[in-house]
Amino acid sequence: MQVKVTKLVPYDYVMKAANVCTGKNVQNLDPWKMYKAEHSLIYTQWFWVEVYDIEPYVHTHFRTHEKNGCQFFVSTSRKGQERHQKDSLNMAFICNASHLINMARKRLCGKADPQVRECMLDIRDRIFEIEPALSSAMVTNCSYRGKCYELTPCFKGGDLE
Ligand SMILES: [Zn+2]
Repeated sequence: MQVKVTKLVPYDYVMKAANVCTGKNVQNLDPWKMYKAEHSLIYTQWFWVEVYDIEPYVHTHFRTHEKNGCQFFVSTSRKGQERHQKDSLNMAFICNASHLINMARKRLCGKADPQVRECMLDIRDRIFEIEPALSSAMVTNCSYRGKCYELTPCFKGGDLE
């Protein structure tokens, strides 16, 4: 598996959006605060994520997040092509910061499929390299909610120590 992430929109657009919303000349909004607050201004921040050489089912777990508005592109396996349905595949998706935070909540949990979790961790590592403040907001649902509410919790007793 290989993951590559490209940031598509400069952070300046958080301030540009804030200026429109407030009618003031807002500057220097702290990314660490903005991503943690999950303020709607972070919807301006779009990313292109490429993931190479994954088992087909890994992409289906990620693709459940498409309903939230990110768009996926996946290697074809239609009849007549050289790829077969069980071959490893490549996927890419375009998404905003909020999509990544929500994906991480589900896919980093200890109850997530191990390969899917590894893929999400790789994506977060790449995000850390280009937007560390966003990676700090990409946490598990369990730590987000203070407890794992999966039917069989990922931590003993369901509480985080
Ligand atoms: Zn959990």
